[in-house]
Amino acid sequence: MAPLRKCIATVALSGSLPEKLEAAAAVGFDGVEIMEADLLSFDGSPADVRRIADSLGLGIDLYQPFRDFEAMPDPVRARNLDRAERKFDLMQALGAEMMLVCSNTQPAALDDDARAAADLHEMAGRAARRGLRIGFEALSWGRNIRLWGHAWRIVQAAAHPALGLIVDSFHTLALGDDPAGLAAVPGDRIFFVQLADAPRLQMDVLSWSRHFRNFPGQGALDVTGFLRAVLASGYAGPLSLEVFNDDFRSAPARLNARDGLRSLILTEAEAGGAAPLPPVPALDGIEFLEFAVDEAAGRELAAFLGSLGFRHAGRHRSKAVDLYRQGGISMVLNGEQDSAAAEHFQQHGPSVCAMALRVDDVPGTLARAEALLCPRWQEPVGADECSIPAVRAPDGTLLYLVGVGGPSWEDDFDRLPGADGTAGLTGIDHVVQALPAGRMDGFVLFWRALFGLLPQPQLETPDPYGLVLSRALVSPGGRVRLALNASDSRGTATGRFISTFAGAGVHHIALSTPDIGGAAAALEGLGAPVLPIPENYYDDLAARWGLDDAMLTDMQRHALLYDDDGAGRFWHLYTAAFCERFFFEVVQRADGYAGFGAANTPVRAAAQARLHPAGTLLM
Ligand code: MG
Ligand code: MG
Repeated sequence: MAPLRKCIATVALSGSLPEKLEAAAAVGFDGVEIMEADLLSFDGSPADVRRIADSLGLGIDLYQPFRDFEAMPDPVRARNLDRAERKFDLMQALGAEMMLVCSNTQPAALDDDARAAADLHEMAGRAARRGLRIGFEALSWGRNIRLWGHAWRIVQAAAHPALGLIVDSFHTLALGDDPAGLAAVPGDRIFFVQLADAPRLQMDVLSWSRHFRNFPGQGALDVTGFLRAVLASGYAGPLSLEVFNDDFRSAPARLNARDGLRSLILTEAEAGGAAPLPPVPALDGIEFLEFAVDEAAGRELAAFLGSLGFRHAGRHRSKAVDLYRQGGISMVLNGEQDSAAAEHFQQHGPSVCAMALRVDDVPGTLARAEALLCPRWQEPVGADECSIPAVRAPDGTLLYLVGVGGPSWEDDFDRLPGADGTAGLTGIDHVVQALPAGRMDGFVLFWRALFGLLPQPQLETPDPYGLVLSRALVSPGGRVRLALNASDSRGTATGRFISTFAGAGVHHIALSTPDIGGAAAALEGLGAPVLPIPENYYDDLAARWGLDDAMLTDMQRHALLYDDDGAGRFWHLYTAAFCERFFFEVVQRADGYAGFGAANTPVRAAAQARLHPAGTLLM
């Protein structure tokens, strides 16, 4: 099946109307829904908007909303028809062929389907005389008409070819209404399809819709199932994102528009409406992390890694790049000038600039990324060097894709003799990224769409200076775990990281061990800067979990934190921050513990705030 036309409502994007149109066109949308409020606040004529859209190659597929029209008592009915005629004038100047009429919310609206149908018939006749069409949508908080099936019965009764049905996944799914029956509606009687997702929240549907809608795949509604039913009808019109969201209103318009188009492409493919995307890769773990350093930071970071038991294991054959290893964990320190790492260093200082993911199918992953608007990125390489294909995460972090077999990236290193590291650390358990406020949904969609990571429920954790939102993403096999943090407060660890780091970035790396006690003792011997934990924490642990005294004493001696998720147990410790930017964690999971020790985040954040007083760059 050929892909359907893709649109976005101007309300979903930030900026002035021309800025919204520019962003939609730049990322590849075919058309827009013009929201009346955006037009009213635009300092120019509807014809000017038409010219801007034309110059961008963008269609104006819908004008909306026209409210509180059908089934009004008589004097209002006549005024409503006059009001519609004035909007038709405007639509003709705009070059918009279709108007969205949403079901009436007025207390005065008559509960009279025949009157509603007659009014819509009259309106459609007037629209048709101008070559315009009307789409009727059931608002989930309409006075009398709230379900798509009800709106459809009225459209059928009105029986005018210029009147059709508009369906909106939010209105249907928010009410728990069944979209399956849409498959039986003749596809050409559905004039327009609006898609929006939303997180599950307990609140009135109007507030939920006005503030918390998000792009398909970012929330908890079955938008794919909804679209599957729509497509089964034979519908061949546009798929349009109509999203009201407080964060989206302030997010950078292009980034957000790209997220939106990515979500539509993914949802359409998952619903069987377009050729299937290349499959989600199977992820086998993080092959290495790469840090951008200069010479001085490289020396310091090497010493810091040394205190965690890493050993200098290799030197790149032609570049200022070094490899540090321990028990199957590889850390690459890149101090090469004129490289992506050097650019990253200039922008962000010493920091993680790349992450290498082990995937089962590199070309397939690249093809999937490209289909989802994330083109391949290629670092210049020497003639005899291994070229590692990569894509860029939304924050610019490089994601290398490492397959199995073939030449290895390690072959570019002269290996130094000696055994691997010594602290008993054996893998990368998870990586935590700080995100600018409002970008959580975009990053979740990126990881879910490209790599099939499964988003876990969003948590709110207190920090001494505000709240931090946190959401984990885990690969189906559990080999790759990421956690994303965002905070509206500039004073929290995450907020301070974002403002001083100038963007999103890795602020913490958790390394796994099968023996946390042994690892902690080894770190102590190596002089690792382990984060001290207050005594109160251990009193509380004793009370909460009934741990025996010997274990508690041991944990306190090593500054270990503890959690228990009902299934398994979890021990962890933290280091101080490196250059007040990022820090390490050492973790041991037992019996299938699936969490991230989030219960201990406030203790950790407070301990760090004490160690790195306000005003420093600590995250
Ligand atoms: Mg709608
Ligand atoms: Mg939000």
